[in-house]
Amino acid sequence: MGVMTAQDETSRAAILTVDDDPAVSRAVARDLRRQYGGRYRIVRAESAREGLDALLQMKLRGDVVAVILADYRMPELNGIEFLEQAMDIYPGARRVLLTAYADTGAAIDAINVVDLDHYLLKPWDPPEEKLYPVVDALLDAWLDSDHRPVPETKIVGHRWSARSSEVREFLARNQVPYRWYSTEEEEGQRLLAAAGADGLTLPVVITPDGEPLVEPTDAELAARVGLATTPSQDFYDLIVVGGGPAGLGAAVYGASEGLRTVLVERLATGGQAGQSSRIENYLGFPDGVSGAQLTDRARRQAAKFGAEVLTTREVVGLEVCGSARRVRFADGTFIDAHTVILATGVSYRRLGAPGLDDLTGRGCYYGSALTEAMACAGQDVYVVGGANSAGQAAVYLARYAKSVTILVRGSSLEKSMSYYLIRQIADIPNISIRTCTEVTEVCGEDHLEMLTLRNTATGDTEIVNAQLLFLFIGAQPLTDWLDGVVVRDRMGFVVAGPDLSPDGERPRGWDLDRMPYHLETSVPGVFVAGDARSESAKRVASAVGEGALAVMLVHRYLEKT
Ligand SMILES: Cc1cc2nc3c(=O)[nH]c(=O)nc-3n(C[C@H](O)[C@H](O)[C@H](O)COP(=O)(O)OP(=O)(O)OC[C@H]3O[C@@H](n4cnc5c(N)ncnc54)[C@H](O)[C@@H]3O)c2cc1C
Repeated sequence: MGVMTAQDETSRAAILTVDDDPAVSRAVARDLRRQYGGRYRIVRAESAREGLDALLQMKLRGDVVAVILADYRMPELNGIEFLEQAMDIYPGARRVLLTAYADTGAAIDAINVVDLDHYLLKPWDPPEEKLYPVVDALLDAWLDSDHRPVPETKIVGHRWSARSSEVREFLARNQVPYRWYSTEEEEGQRLLAAAGADGLTLPVVITPDGEPLVEPTDAELAARVGLATTPSQDFYDLIVVGGGPAGLGAAVYGASEGLRTVLVERLATGGQAGQSSRIENYLGFPDGVSGAQLTDRARRQAAKFGAEVLTTREVVGLEVCGSARRVRFADGTFIDAHTVILATGVSYRRLGAPGLDDLTGRGCYYGSALTEAMACAGQDVYVVGGANSAGQAAVYLARYAKSVTILVRGSSLEKSMSYYLIRQIADIPNISIRTCTEVTEVCGEDHLEMLTLRNTATGDTEIVNAQLLFLFIGAQPLTDWLDGVVVRDRMGFVVAGPDLSPDGERPRGWDLDRMPYHLETSVPGVFVAGDARSESAKRVASAVGEGALAVMLVHRYLEKT
């Protein structure tokens, strides 16, 4: 017989009993269940090995164990050796050794060796007198300490492991709750041991079911934490590429108006807005709203109307196949639809300073101010950029950091940042601004330690100590995959509607007897919305609005074809 657990009981703390004599084992479990079964999960094992396996499984699942009772005389490991190993897994659990009278000497010795809480002489009849008072006292003591179950995903990583910080960012942006454990903490070490991982390859992600994943890819993570990654159909009315505000807007309107809609996002929904700590100018949110909240609501709204949302799927090709529009994924597979809305937004430009690539994710971060904010406590933080995104990040980080220095290449913030934000920053004492300054080198052993700053007016350089650097240095559309398919402007933004025919002439290659609709690209039935569009407003509200408008034009296109 094996270890007994029940799925629906996982939220309750466990009492584990281990005895190699099946009759005794059953008797202990029966007595315990009778008294404690309503409040605790009674787990029974018939060997030390089985008991340890049960503890490891429970550790990975994030369950808590209140009391462990082990028989002294067992083959393989005796009760004391077993409890010693159990302590490594659950140091907070109270420990009881079950002994026969002849073994009391060993039990007394064990009090010192394994910090035993109690020993019980067998038989303990009647349990009301001999067993329950002991277990009651141990449970009271255990309840006084703080041991709560951790049912969510657990990440064991290191602060300066680039992939650890990417995984946190990925889960946070997909609204997947997780608990972070550093490898420097004892609990982190215990989880690594339970997962059988050496800690050299990080992070180790443990799913809520207790399955350990060593340095998983985004796609593996998405699949294991319940995010959809594969389309359910091969033909749709509408494919939306990109899951930022424009794409989510299009998915909500498309699905709510009865179009079979699928949204494909290469990373996590939310786009740039998902990284904003506070959007203050979005209609209907007078006190501001975080990008994560806005994304979570939009995503739920899209799902409610029946839109499919695929994450971690990058689109690498768009093809015209007769009246169908084909969207190809990086793995070569594809889906078709009557229409496509391109909502791929823009991505951060990279800074070319020597040393930066190596330290990205190890103290240097592009845009991800939110998940790293806690790490800023008491630190000197630098933010590069002069636009609103940099300003918002500085305001947010200043709540935690000792100091925040905004580094701006230009001579003032006025040209690039909104007036309200400049005023807000001026009122925060631990934010300072260095204009005419650029980062020319980034140094550090295994994480950021120093920055070289250059004054662009005088050419003087200065080396400063820095633990954290956040970069918000503008963005570019990643639209190379559309080359030769749709018309793009000099910078790579997708040209649409009247902008395709500034002279009023029909665009080249356009063979319909109507002109392109407002957000329609040079390929009929393919539309663009949001920041990816040439001459777009680069605002959340306009991106959402364009997503909705594009759906209206999709309807018009479908009616006429
Ligand atoms: C930190 C920050 C703060 C901001 N604050 C504000 C603010 O306060 N107010 C405001 O109005 N605006 C703000 N903005 C600007 C605003 O967020 C953007 O204008 C808006 O997000 C644009 O939406 P979008 O959907 O067009 O593009 P994006 O938000 O860029 O989303 C595009 C999405 O498409 C995905 N994608 C790209 N290529 C592919 C591909 N090939 N396959 C699959 N998916 C792909 C990306 O991963 C991304 O998720 C801020 C921007 C940032 C970065």
